[in-house]
Amino acid sequence: MKALHARYPFLSAAREAVETAGVDLSELVASDSAAVERGLERVEWAVTEGTVGEPHRRTRVELLSYPVARVLVSLVDEHILLRRYARAEAVTAYDRFSEELTATAEFQSTRTERLDRQDLLAEFDLSGHVHAVAGEDGEYRVDVGTYLEHTAGQWGDEWRLVNRPLADGQVPVDEDELLLLVRQAVRRRVEDGLPLSVPDAIATELDDETERVRDVLADLDLTRDIDTVVPDLFPPCMRHLLDKVQKGEHLEHHSRFAIAAFLTSIGMSTDEIVELFQVNPGFGEEATRYQVDHIRGETSPTEYSAPACATMQSYGDCVNKDDICEDVINESHPLNYYEHRLEEADEEELVDWRDGEEDEEDDDAG
Ligand code: SF4
Repeated sequence: MKALHARYPFLSAAREAVETAGVDLSELVASDSAAVERGLERVEWAVTEGTVGEPHRRTRVELLSYPVARVLVSLVDEHILLRRYARAEAVTAYDRFSEELTATAEFQSTRTERLDRQDLLAEFDLSGHVHAVAGEDGEYRVDVGTYLEHTAGQWGDEWRLVNRPLADGQVPVDEDELLLLVRQAVRRRVEDGLPLSVPDAIATELDDETERVRDVLADLDLTRDIDTVVPDLFPPCMRHLLDKVQKGEHLEHHSRFAIAAFLTSIGMSTDEIVELFQVNPGFGEEATRYQVDHIRGETSPTEYSAPACATMQSYGDCVNKDDICEDVINESHPLNYYEHRLEEADEEELVDWRDGEEDEEDDDAG
């Protein structure tokens, strides 16, 4: 077992090393308390800190803590835990390989074995799809299919294909962006196969650790308050409707109802919705106020909720469906889509639209 495997336990070579060493998982969890402890630490850190923490000083313990961690998240089997864990492993790996790949030759020589860019790309079958631009250091072109596969629904607008100069079926990316694509590939690799099916004997042996992870999850309010307004993270259908309102285009009653009900459901007040709609002066403030108050139940006996995807589809309001719609929320509800995006977002993406408005007002007042 090599140090490289311990640093990147998701590599195929690391998996082979564990297999070659004939490690039996039941024996491991019963007899290697250091690996179990570090495995638990990986998962706890993933939930609370977003990384998997500092490596154990012993290579074997560090490497074997990875399968232990995978078993633990499988035993708890909460969707949010699986996602957080995979993301934390990917973030940690990304921090490590970014540092290694950009380190000076002097630092590199102190590592007996390290990952180079070609190995990293080859590991995720990216070599044939990522092309270095001749004469331009740190500039690459990625085949569009590969680009889409590794950016699907994950990041902000700058990653959307419409905002990239596509040429000859290839998308330009710089070195930092390329490594972010690899981070995404790592995350998928880690997620792959989770949750595992865990034999009872192993589950029983890990009862205490599983309980501990459940406690950590319970202590933390993982469902980010949905009372956050970040239009960039809205589902495609709602973004489309909002764009139309803001451009002053006519919306059918059901469409207007859908966007107003969605905005109400994410905690916006009538005044805020009116303000968000008001980019175009012809939007009809009175009608909007009346409709939003009605949806909210203030001028009617019923509080209406935002329509589910099936309803949106039947009215032709499901527009620009993407991978998250299909693969993550299973075309269930636009609010599920939005919750997912909030949960996945980096902190810096989460600037509440209302805070921006307040800043502008402060500026105006100043
Ligand atoms: S699948 Fe649902 S969330 Fe996605 S665009 Fe259609 S209605 Fe909106």
